[in-house]
Amino acid sequence: MKIIKTIRCFLIGSLIISCAHVTPVPNLEKEYSEENYPKRVIDAHSHFSLEDESRPGQPTIEMLKMYQEANVIGAVIHFPRNMEKSSQIKVDRNRPDFKMAICAAIVPGQDIQKVEIGLKNRDYRCMKVYLGYVSKYAADPFYIPFYRLAEKYEVPVVFHTGDTYDKKAKIKYAEPLQVDEIALQFPKVNFVIAHMGNPWIQTAAEVVYKNDNVYVDISALMLGDVSKANAEAVEELAIKPIHWFWLYVENPKKMMFGSDWPLMEVKPYVKVVMRAIPKEHWDDVFYLNAATLFKLDSSKQIIKTK
Ligand SMILES: [Zn+2]
Repeated sequence: MKIIKTIRCFLIGSLIISCAHVTPVPNLEKEYSEENYPKRVIDAHSHFSLEDESRPGQPTIEMLKMYQEANVIGAVIHFPRNMEKSSQIKVDRNRPDFKMAICAAIVPGQDIQKVEIGLKNRDYRCMKVYLGYVSKYAADPFYIPFYRLAEKYEVPVVFHTGDTYDKKAKIKYAEPLQVDEIALQFPKVNFVIAHMGNPWIQTAAEVVYKNDNVYVDISALMLGDVSKANAEAVEELAIKPIHWFWLYVENPKKMMFGSDWPLMEVKPYVKVVMRAIPKEHWDDVFYLNAATLFKLDSSKQIIKTK
């Protein structure tokens, strides 16, 4: 099936190249202009900025302003893996203007009873497992009771996968293939592979393609403000990999926009992702898939993918 499709695309690709002189060139600048910028976005991978310790209240005014400028009306926010830092965070969860799904950090030292209370009262709507930063595989016995809780409370589990942005972390624990085993062991739980497994992108794509209950966020394929980055790097490290992943998975409901803020500027990254995804699916990737999976839009039910 896959092979036939690949050949077909290759043929169509050759045809387009050979017919390029008669194919009308789309007006890309208009296509990706401010006027076409998505009207609603959920950032499916975000963190609270903890740099200003004098103001522990979250979300901060700066964060809300930045999101407002990027049409971000909700976010999936991962609690830090540092338990001391996370205990200082005070979250205003009842903001009518901003939808939040906060993920409990599942790290050694985390109190499972506290996580369960948080899930019960909806303070937590997801869990974050920091593979690589924590030297345990996804199938480690430590995590199993938490996956059972995820099943009981019907919340997604997000796995950090790929590069760790920390030289002391062990990346063998951050490889995305291991998510396959957990997805099979817990078929009723929805899992998210963060960062497309970058740079193990093909592995991550296969795990997402094969398992109905595995999704992907495309956060932080690059860092900082991508509008200031080298154009070739943006093309090769973000646009092409996202587009390839999209084609391989063949399911517009599986991919979610995310930034990993504050590591990335949000609006420039949205503009890059617009170039990687067909326009008719922008609302899926920028809003609907995350709204549904993390129940940020009460009118939506869990996605049935196939
Ligand atoms: Zn992150």
